[in-house]
Amino acid sequence: MWRRTALSLGRRQLQGGPRGHANQVPPASFRMSHKRPARRILGVEKNIWLEFTEMAAKYKSVDLGQGFPNFSPPDFVRQAFSDVVSGEDCLMHQYTRAFGHPTLVKILAKLYGQLLGQSIDPFGDILVTVGAYEALFTAFQALVDEGDEVIIIEPFFDCYEPMVKMAGGHCVFVPLRPKGTPDKPALSSGEWALDPDELASKFTERTKAIVLNTPHNPLGKVFKREELQVIAELCVKHDVLCISDEVYEWIVFDGNEHIKIASLPGMWAQTVTIGSAGKTFSATGWKVGWAIGPHRILKHLQTVHQNSVYHTATAAQEAVARGFQRELDVLGRPESYLFQLPRQLQEKRNRLVECLLSVGMRPIIPEGGYFLIVDISALNVELPEPADEEEPYDYRFAKWLIKTKGMATIPVSAFYSLGHRKDFASYIRLCYVKEDSTLEAAEKILKEWHLTK
Ligand code: PMP
Ligand code: GLN
Repeated sequence: MWRRTALSLGRRQLQGGPRGHANQVPPASFRMSHKRPARRILGVEKNIWLEFTEMAAKYKSVDLGQGFPNFSPPDFVRQAFSDVVSGEDCLMHQYTRAFGHPTLVKILAKLYGQLLGQSIDPFGDILVTVGAYEALFTAFQALVDEGDEVIIIEPFFDCYEPMVKMAGGHCVFVPLRPKGTPDKPALSSGEWALDPDELASKFTERTKAIVLNTPHNPLGKVFKREELQVIAELCVKHDVLCISDEVYEWIVFDGNEHIKIASLPGMWAQTVTIGSAGKTFSATGWKVGWAIGPHRILKHLQTVHQNSVYHTATAAQEAVARGFQRELDVLGRPESYLFQLPRQLQEKRNRLVECLLSVGMRPIIPEGGYFLIVDISALNVELPEPADEEEPYDYRFAKWLIKTKGMATIPVSAFYSLGHRKDFASYIRLCYVKEDSTLEAAEKILKEWHLTK
């Protein structure tokens, strides 16, 4: 894993070598200016969430865009947070242990120890972070060196690419392809799959890590054991790390099963598993996440964290710990929130799917997570002339939908690398983790639009 320093390769890339990327040396005039940004942020300035959440708010749209529940977290976690902040223990308002509040890391070690069939050291194998975002960021900063290659499965949660670039790494993309044909298109996210030979061809001696995301954002695909096995075998064979983003781990539908790649043979030793209390307890604003893996790897993430964020809000960590404590006592039983959540969201998914089908749209039915994607190519909407010729069709469509119909969604090409965006511009992503009244408002818009077509 630590087999190379990649110094020579890094230098070649800094000089604009054949695989040149964000780290090329700018002209001297640029380097001299005190106003210039650092090279590592060149090319990563645009952000889909900033652009579309602002627009959704401006037009007061029915918001199926950004992925967050617009309903409350369960009573027991809200009560826990309020008990923590109003209680007598003044230390709940002060700094806590840098790598994770003791009650939280202990309960995470117990829970994930059971799920992974692996003994987990709460003080060595876990890092609590500011949401899963920071877990991803510390992982890339700590493990990816100049010139290292990181395999990313396309489409992908958009921050992976800029985070790899900011670490000096080079992204190598491999697509999930729909298995259908034009007359019999794929209907479910399970029909989007990797080609094992194509995946194998992406592993080189420069590959440092592969990023996995299951359940998947934006497709809603839940990777099957056989699919994970293929990835795991390649990781073991090539001594490559797996950064496994499992923030939607509890949200799986239709009897599908979420399998943790770290539980497959040989994989605990080379996987960083990332989770989010935001998604687990429907409290995305709390921004509590974690990375779990063997201390040998985790200690490097801890180094980045101690020198940047240092620690996550104490009260939020304690409330999440109390939430998990309650869940551990009832796990698998109908009163468990983690039992109820996927059932509740499956109903919302079904409702949105039925509505989309009734207005002649073609959703890809998700097996898990917060989102579904829907094909817009057959709608034949005439869009106004683009201000920017380069803007992909789905961006223009999503903007038109906000402005003229009052409904916010996210263009799916935002989940593709810049070079591939134009080829995948015929889907939009809808979030169904919304109050029934919001889904009803979206249904009304879609049905009225359908009638006027
Ligand atoms: N990974 C994926 C796949 C996501 O969809 C998100 C957004 N919630 C994150 C990571 C970041 O999670 P958090 O809100 O806990 O930072
Ligand atoms: N993960 C959420 C989504 O995909 C939110 C992302 C964000 O707000 N940056 O919508």
